[in-house]
Amino acid sequence: MSLSKPASLRAAILVVSTTAAQDPSTDAAEAALREVFDQDGGGRWTVSEAKIVSDVVTHIQQQIMLWADDADPVNLIVTSGGTGFAVEDHTPEAVIPLLHKQAPGLVHGMLAASLAVTPFAVMSRPVAGVRNKTVIITLPGSPKAAKENLQAVIKTLPHACLQAAGASSRALHSGGVKKLEQEAGMASPQAKTHSSHSRPHHHHHHCPHGHQAPIRHTPTPAASSTSTSTEPKSNDPSLGPTRRHRSSPYPMLSVSDALSLIAQHVPKPTPILHKVDPSLVGYVAAEDVHAAEDVPAFRASIVDGYAVVVPDAALGEEQSEAGAGADLKGVWPVVGVSHASPTEEFELKEGQVARITTGAALPRGANAVVMVEDTVLAAQTEDGTEEKEVGILAEGVKAGDNVREVGSDVRKGEIVLRKGERVSSGGGEIGLLASVGIKELMVYAKPVVGVLSTGDEIVEHDKEGDLRLGEVRDINRPSLMAAVRQCGYDVIDLGIVKDKARTLEEKLRVALREVDVVITTGGVSMGELDLLKPTIERSLGGTIHFGRVNMKPGKPTTFATVPVKNNAGERVSKVIFALPGNPASALVTFHLFVLPALHHMSGVSPPGLPKVPVTLAHDFVLDKARPEYHRAVVSIGSDGRLTASSTGSQRSSRVGSMKQANALLCMPSGSEPLRKGTRVEALLMGNIQSNAQ
Ligand code: AMP
Ligand code: MG
Repeated sequence: MSLSKPASLRAAILVVSTTAAQDPSTDAAEAALREVFDQDGGGRWTVSEAKIVSDVVTHIQQQIMLWADDADPVNLIVTSGGTGFAVEDHTPEAVIPLLHKQAPGLVHGMLAASLAVTPFAVMSRPVAGVRNKTVIITLPGSPKAAKENLQAVIKTLPHACLQAAGASSRALHSGGVKKLEQEAGMASPQAKTHSSHSRPHHHHHHCPHGHQAPIRHTPTPAASSTSTSTEPKSNDPSLGPTRRHRSSPYPMLSVSDALSLIAQHVPKPTPILHKVDPSLVGYVAAEDVHAAEDVPAFRASIVDGYAVVVPDAALGEEQSEAGAGADLKGVWPVVGVSHASPTEEFELKEGQVARITTGAALPRGANAVVMVEDTVLAAQTEDGTEEKEVGILAEGVKAGDNVREVGSDVRKGEIVLRKGERVSSGGGEIGLLASVGIKELMVYAKPVVGVLSTGDEIVEHDKEGDLRLGEVRDINRPSLMAAVRQCGYDVIDLGIVKDKARTLEEKLRVALREVDVVITTGGVSMGELDLLKPTIERSLGGTIHFGRVNMKPGKPTTFATVPVKNNAGERVSKVIFALPGNPASALVTFHLFVLPALHHMSGVSPPGLPKVPVTLAHDFVLDKARPEYHRAVVSIGSDGRLTASSTGSQRSSRVGSMKQANALLCMPSGSEPLRKGTRVEALLMGNIQSNAQ
């Protein structure tokens, strides 16, 4: 058989459908497939047979054998229908035992084409292969899907059919794959672009493009230093350790550039309504809050004593002659009592007094209160239980003395909490809101944080008994969870996950549904089991905004956002911080990067740890290459100066370097030590210690 005169090929269509078998007018698949052979078949196909059978294995098999076992068999049988998961779907089961050779490549081609149209293509179970000299493929039952599947492979089918029919493979291959492709009217992926060979080379041949160096699957760091590139930079873990990068493909960012990217890419704060109660601490007001009431709501006494009426004359006198006031000295009848409790109002007249307690309402007409200390008991009732008359010793009592006027603490309508102000744990803001009758207010939601440890070696920190060789107790999860909570955010324990791509991906998917920010530790260095970056980029479709920072400790710190659908079906952005596994690195990078992110997301401004200048209490050795965040204890001396002492060895595995540390000293890189007495900036993580005796 020669290819110079393309041979005509015969195809048979077998529609598998119990419904169509009963009523052929319901079948649309045959017509759809005929159309493909006519329009896309390059003029090479004749549909010589077509049949409809029920979804019965023996019926399907009988028809296929009739066509394929004939002395002059058809070149191709396409079936349509019965490839799904329904109970009555049997076509693959009927076809598979009939095949002498399987053709997974054709199956792959069809699935790939369908997957490009719908993810539900995974619900199809196509098979393909050869029986005797006939190629058989099973297509889906839906005419549209059947058509698309056939279109996906029809260009390659003549070649397969001719080979199956016994054409010499040498003759067929005489022009090489290129010729075959030309004949089929196709261009190979390689032929399209020379430079963008996106598929990894699985073969051991020399690379046809003349590369000597290892194949780079990503641009070089210098070529793409921005985070906008959508191409994953991470390793493709399926390629194994021999194909991984041997230096990080992520550009090395300065800490301040990394912080800008965080500010830029974390989700904006969302306002929510929150009750005024103790759990309001740490929230930031999302609106100006106005006082709903005056405080005090009534004219109240500031002291325990006697309410009096300062005469009008004295008022006038007070205005002209400051400090004089009225002369109320003398003995006055006690006509009433006002306790600090909800009461009936009563009238007080000139020449009368009323006993009154701190915070109690002034009687009507009263305009000043004389302290109990400035009075004497003059007369009591006969049974001796009540005061009848008191003597006032005070001189120059003025209207308004010891009286809190309505609204004098807080005026109704005045702003008690401004948008952007944070509710402190000191109680002041909650107290103020409570005082003016604010029951709830709009604040920015606080992100919920999940903490996940990764690593095959990591075991629960409280595991009983001795560790096995290679096991490491989980330090990061308990320590980070404590830090998150201390910073005022809810934290969820996501457990420990092994260094397995699938498990990690599943864990992260679940986590991203539950929390706003996922903190992972481990798996971000350069090792072959370092799966965080590839999983985020390749499996979760996330964007890594930075994957390397010029600092010590914490160089591989990774910040990414991942688009996910929330419960309401809206697309939202979730945040992943993949922190280094070494425990001191994890804690330092939490304070340096995660905390500012949480602040941005919850409206706290300025974000991050407060910075203060401190004086070194001793010489500090510097890292030669990278700026270092040196863990230190900052204390205040009796002279008011802040001094900093190192917590000792700063090795990143030594979590003890964080013990008692209340500051991260921002040390430059350098080869000479920084001398005692040098002033440096300190980021405060905790309260300053007092050295003063
Ligand atoms: P990795 O970043 O996964 O290469 O881990 C770096 C180092 O940190 C290794 O020595 C790990 O055993 C250690 N490490 C990772 N995760 C933890 C953890 N949760 N607790 C204690 N050590 C850890
Ligand atoms: Mg690890």
